[in-house]
Amino acid sequence: MSLPDPILKPKIQYTQIFINNEWRNSISGKTFATINPCTEEKICDIQEGDKADVDLAVKAASEAFKLGSPWRTMDASQRGVLLNKLADLINRDRHILASLETLDNGKPYNVSYNVDLELVIRCYRYYAGFADKNHGKLIPMDGNAHAYTRHEPVGVCGQIIPWNFPLLMQAWKLGPALSMGNVVVMKPAEQTPLTALYVAALIKEAGFPPGVVNMIPGYGPTAGAAISEHMDVDKVAFTGSTEVGHLIMQAAGKSNLKRVTLELGGKSPNIIFEDADLDYAVEMAHFGLFFNMGQCCCAGSRVFVQESIYDEFVKKSVARAKKRTVGSPFETGVEQGPQVDAEQFKKIQELIQSGKDEGAELLCGGERHGDKGYYIQPTVFGNVKDHMRIATEEIFGPVQQIMKFKTMEEVIERANNTVYGLAAAVFTKDLNTAITVSNSVRAGTVWVNTFNSFSSMTPFGGYKMSGQGRELGEYGLANYTEVKCVIIKTPSKNS
Ligand code: NAD
Repeated sequence: MSLPDPILKPKIQYTQIFINNEWRNSISGKTFATINPCTEEKICDIQEGDKADVDLAVKAASEAFKLGSPWRTMDASQRGVLLNKLADLINRDRHILASLETLDNGKPYNVSYNVDLELVIRCYRYYAGFADKNHGKLIPMDGNAHAYTRHEPVGVCGQIIPWNFPLLMQAWKLGPALSMGNVVVMKPAEQTPLTALYVAALIKEAGFPPGVVNMIPGYGPTAGAAISEHMDVDKVAFTGSTEVGHLIMQAAGKSNLKRVTLELGGKSPNIIFEDADLDYAVEMAHFGLFFNMGQCCCAGSRVFVQESIYDEFVKKSVARAKKRTVGSPFETGVEQGPQVDAEQFKKIQELIQSGKDEGAELLCGGERHGDKGYYIQPTVFGNVKDHMRIATEEIFGPVQQIMKFKTMEEVIERANNTVYGLAAAVFTKDLNTAITVSNSVRAGTVWVNTFNSFSSMTPFGGYKMSGQGRELGEYGLANYTEVKCVIIKTPSKNS
C-alpha cells in the first residue's frame, strides 16, 4: 500500500477522560505526562483517571446496558453496521492515527501505517460480521420440553491494555465486546494514551450510544485496579505482564468473581532444524525477535538451532542484526525506533548485563544507541544456556538469545521447560518433524516455517502462565458471551 508522508507533529486533540460520549477532566484534578520516547520530552499532559472516574464510567456503562436502552434494543446487525462505520472512520484518519501511534510509542511509521492500522481495521470489520451470527441452539432435551440457548452479552466489561500495540490491542478488545453487545470501560496504557482517546472520538462519531464505550487514561495501580476490583464490572480482559495478571485474578477473586481473560508474557521457543532453508530461517528468526523493538509478547526469544548449522546460523544472525537500521521512527527505511519508556529501557539494559555476567557470549550490540531517546542497539547473545536469566525472563527488547540443540526429543523438552506457553515456531522441511513439534510444544500458537503471522480469524492466547482464554477468531466471542439456557415445559412431544 502506498504510504502517505507522516505528520511529524500531529495535533493532539484529545487529552481528557471519555465517559458517556463526553470529554471531562479527572475528578481529582490530576494529570500525567505522556513522553516522546525518541526525545525523552513531554508530548502533552493527559487527564489522570482513578477510582472516582472509573466509578463514574461504570455507572455510565451500566446505564447504557439497562434493559430497554438504545444499545440493548439495537438490532444485532446494526451493531455490525456501527463497527464497520468505526473501521471506515479509522481508515479515513489512518495517517493521523499512524503518526500519533509512532509519536507516542516509537514504532516505525511504515509499520504503524501498514501493519498496525491494517490489522486494526480488519479486526473491527471481522467482528462487525459476527454481530448477527453468534446465536444459540435448539436442544433436543429429554422429556416434554422446548430447550434453547441464547448467547447474551456479559455486561460491563473492564478492558486494560498495554503499550506495545496500543491501537491493535484496543481493537482486539473492543471488536468482540461490542459485536456481542457488551458495554466497556477501557484503560489504555499510561505510556500510550493518545490513539486510544482519538478512537474514542471516532466511536462517538460512528454513532455508538453514550456510555457504551468509556475510556479512562490513568495508571495501573489506581485506575486499572479500580476496574479489576469493581463490584459492578462483570468481566475484565487484560493484556500485559504476568505479574499484573496475578493481581487481576486476585482482584476478581476478592471482589465479585468477575470473568477474567488474560493475555500475558512469553518466552517463546523458535526451533531451527538443520534441513531448514538457512537464510530464510535466519531472516524469520531476526524478524520474530526484533519486530516492534522486541516488544512482542510472542517474541521468539529462545532460538534453538541444531548443532550442525549452529555456527553458520549465528554468523548470519549477527550480520543481519548489525545491518538493522536504528533511528527516528518517522524516517523512511528505519527498522527500529526507541523502546517505549525509561523503565523498559533500564530493564533491558539490566538483563543484557545479566547475560554478560552469567557467561553468555555477547556477539553484537549490548549498549544504548546514541545519547538521547530510549534506543538500544540490536543485540545478539550466543552460547546461551537454558538456566540463564536471559533465557528464562521476558526481556521485551531487541535482544536475541541463540542456543544449540542435538535432537528433536531434546529440544521439545527444553522448549517446554518454561512457565510460559504463548507461542512457538519450528523451521524444517520435514513434515513429520513439523507435526511432531507442533503437537508436542505446549503453546497457544505454533508457527511452522513462519513467525508473527497474525489474522483476526485465528485464535491467540496462552497455555500455562501466558494467560487464560483466547482472543480473536470465533473462539474470541466466548469471552464476551454468557450462555443462557431457556427450558419451556410443553404439553406433549413428537420426535
Ligand atoms: P504492565 O502489566 O504493568 O501494564 C499493562 C497494563 O496494565 C497497563 O495498562 C497498566 O497500567 C496496567 N496495570 C499495571 N498495574 C496494574 C494493576 N495493579 N491493576 C490493573 N492494571 C494494572 O506492564 P508494563 O509495566 O508496562 O511492562 C512490564 C513487562 O510486562 C514488560 O517488560 C513485558 O515483559 C510485559 N508486557 C507484556 C505485554 C504483552 O503484550 N503480553 C505488554 C506489555 C508489557
